Amino acid sequence: TVYYYKDRFLKGGETPVPVEDRAFNYGDGIYEVVRFHRDRSFGLQEHLERLRDSAEAIRMALPFPLEEIESIVRSAVSQVEDEVVDVYFQISRGEALRVHPFPQTDPVLSLYARPGRIYTEDFREAGVAVITLPDERWSNCYIKSLNLLPNVLAKQAAVEAGAYEAVLIRDGWVTEASASNVFGYHDGVFFTHPANRHILNGITRRFLLRAIQKLGFTVQEEPMSEEFFQNEVESAFITSTTMELMPISKINQRELHPLGPESPVWQILQAFRTL
Ligand code: PMP
Repeated sequence: TVYYYKDRFLKGGETPVPVEDRAFNYGDGIYEVVRFHRDRSFGLQEHLERLRDSAEAIRMALPFPLEEIESIVRSAVSQVEDEVVDVYFQISRGEALRVHPFPQTDPVLSLYARPGRIYTEDFREAGVAVITLPDERWSNCYIKSLNLLPNVLAKQAAVEAGAYEAVLIRDGWVTEASASNVFGYHDGVFFTHPANRHILNGITRRFLLRAIQKLGFTVQEEPMSEEFFQNEVESAFITSTTMELMPISKINQRELHPLGPESPVWQILQAFRTL
């Protein structure tokens, strides 16, 4: 793993997180995760733009211009030799005496790049079980904030229930999952929650919407009711940078049909990969 903190790459084992970094004390910051296949990124520009938008939403300046962040990201990736590399980068509001108002200090970039977490095709064909849980997050989920406590608690509850993800329900509607977006398929139509303040507008979600449209399927950016999702959808999947598209094999107690390579969901994954 290659680590970067503030203004330099770190030597082996060195991780100097100041105790009063606001990311540490308040979760006061934002982040992104981008996947690279060698030097070809998946949607790097969109990730950088979302980072800029998240920063603006929390009224935080970026420590460097976007182009410079891009070149630090690319430099980190080039130092990992694997074919697939995942880069995590976050910006905290900086290191300052721990009082709530914004500090005068400069924001701080930290980053790591490491071999990508690849899911085997067998794992993908088997799909993953999900449970549904109440969405207990705030109303600014479009910001990719470092505050992930509700997401962590939801994911842990899923794992403890023998599932892989927690699909979140807000006022009776499926929003997204703890670390991914959610799609359902019913009667020739794909559904996913509209990109408003109740979900993170995933970059994978956006590319998949394009893939679905390119294949000529109908897609409605409309929320699914909990009842529709639980009882009606024929198939469903979750999406994220590291998972790409992951079929759902079970929603609480209901098993979903296995998804063969001839299924629309499989076709979409192939189309997505060639975008
Ligand atoms: N929603 C949430 C809550 C997430 O944490 C993530 C991934 N971090 C996503 C959706 C998927 O976003 P992306 O496709 O940009 O990875």
